[in-house]
Amino acid sequence: MLDMNWIRENEELVRNTAEWKRVAFPLEELLEQDDTKRRLLQETEQLRAQRNALTKEVEQALRGGDSAAGQAAKEQVRALNGRLSSLEAKLAEAQRRCGELLLLAPNPVSADTPIGSGDSDNVLLRLEGQPPEFGFAPRDHVELGELHGIIDLPRGVKAGGPRSYVLKGAGLDLHLAVQRLAVDVLTRRGFTVMDVPVIVRPEALERTGFFPGGRDQTYELTGENRWLAGTSEVSLVSLYSDEIVELETPMRLGGMSACFRSEVGSAGRDVRGLYRVHQFSKIEQVVFCRSDQGASERMLQEILANAEYILQLLELPYRVMAVCTGDMSLKTHKQYDIETWMPGREAYGETHSASNLLDFQARRSNIRYRDEQGRLQYCHTLNNTAVATPRILIPLLENHQQEDGSIYIPQALRQYMNGKEKLDLPP
Ligand code: AMP
Repeated sequence: MLDMNWIRENEELVRNTAEWKRVAFPLEELLEQDDTKRRLLQETEQLRAQRNALTKEVEQALRGGDSAAGQAAKEQVRALNGRLSSLEAKLAEAQRRCGELLLLAPNPVSADTPIGSGDSDNVLLRLEGQPPEFGFAPRDHVELGELHGIIDLPRGVKAGGPRSYVLKGAGLDLHLAVQRLAVDVLTRRGFTVMDVPVIVRPEALERTGFFPGGRDQTYELTGENRWLAGTSEVSLVSLYSDEIVELETPMRLGGMSACFRSEVGSAGRDVRGLYRVHQFSKIEQVVFCRSDQGASERMLQEILANAEYILQLLELPYRVMAVCTGDMSLKTHKQYDIETWMPGREAYGETHSASNLLDFQARRSNIRYRDEQGRLQYCHTLNNTAVATPRILIPLLENHQQEDGSIYIPQALRQYMNGKEKLDLPP
């Protein structure tokens, strides 16, 4: 959420940001409602002051035994009360509408964010590692999964419907191993990793910036007034809503959770295999830091580096993209995506997404800290994937396949795979 005074002072930038992010934001209506709210507030305060003065007159008149004057002033108080309650109702409605519209205001983007209309306008920053050159016809992860008996898509669909899957045997081991690796890396790097609720209140989704825009992406639990979170960021941030946090050093939080996404709007896209599914597991990084652009930019680089380190441990080739305005959400100020090479798609596919939200989320969630002068400030919040699986299994299986059908297991994963160096084809 943005500060209303800031919006008034930066109307042009807000209008441009909405256009760059391709979001419908009724700025004119917000400005009108805010004018109305201010006017009504002033009128209400004036009337309240008048009423207080009249109430004193009534008391004085009654004390002085002048019942006629007391009665007349009482009549005036009654008339004022009538006007006041009608004004207060109008004021409450204007305040409610302003709050509703403010939720739709887009966070401004950083100066180095590319302006563009969609993911084809994202800018390549760097390439790391080399896509493998196979001296044989490589298989994609669906074929490899079937061959090894570790991914069962038809039975997954039988139980869960489209975009469902089953991981078994060494497939499950790999799924757990990448998560275990990510938890250990984050823990070594000062993160407190937690298992957090995935069933969340609508307020948590609204205050973290996923609602109202992302309602159709989110599964509702019928009759419960609770929803299934698409990422543990919702819970991690909401754990601290309405709190004053200690930020001598940045707060580094990790979330381990199942994630649920309706994927509305993705009909027909990425329907093969494990790329776009309704339920997946993710280890997420969330950081709270002081509201200093330099500090949050440093933290963005840190959480990006953590994700890159995990990919390097997985020995996977990837590239880092600066995400453009048209591919960003309302809440994002600056974003990098990491895309990992997926031989089956003959393309890089997104596996990580790192964002700096400045104080957008903290304002909505009311998370503050005390600065050096003891003043309360909203903190900055950031997030990035550490690992999301099963999507990461796509590059893992496909890049590490060998000519004989076996799959090489990167050194860093072996401790979580009973020391196995490769997955051999079943006899
Ligand atoms: P996001 O929270 O949307 O930035 O996504 C973070 C990461 O979660 C992505 O980079 C993917 O690795 C993974 N992910 C997101 N949506 C899906 C999905 N529908 N199926 C599988 N993995 C997903």
